[in-house]
Amino acid sequence: MMHPDFMFLVTHAAIGALVGELFPNHPYLAFVLGFCSHLLTDIIPHGDTKIYKGYIAGSKVKRAIAYVMLDGVITVFFILTLFNTHVYDHRFAVSMGVAGGVLPDLLVAMYEIFHVKALKWFHKFHFFFHNMISGKHDLPFPVGFAMQLLLLVPLLGRLLRGAF
Ligand SMILES: [Zn+2]
Repeated sequence: MMHPDFMFLVTHAAIGALVGELFPNHPYLAFVLGFCSHLLTDIIPHGDTKIYKGYIAGSKVKRAIAYVMLDGVITVFFILTLFNTHVYDHRFAVSMGVAGGVLPDLLVAMYEIFHVKALKWFHKFHFFFHNMISGKHDLPFPVGFAMQLLLLVPLLGRLLRGAF
């Protein structure tokens, strides 16, 4: 069964990049901390429970797919832009932070699309964090969306300084 996780992938990538910046000489640590940052930020409710229901009902499948694609393309643009900034100096640590930051959702998608049995535990583990609060008290989607933007904009401002 499909699950929604509409915490923006670009947010996870940006937090991962920030971790890489904080540990420029410790790329593997950046990877692990980037991975942990994903699970921890997923705990913050981001208003995707209703989308999940629409998804199960089949009424909003196209919209959900379009959303994920848009988020994926924005993430690619973010990473391309990021690598035209000062991070070029410690790009391995930043790459590892970003990789760790987005990996959990990649594993979740692998499980949901290809039913990779070995990932079942991880799928549960991921949604244990994701649904910790939102399973009972989720926000309306517009509020969750606005909160994510409030987090994302300053983060991008910091990370992409020097790119333009
Ligand atoms: Zn996630």
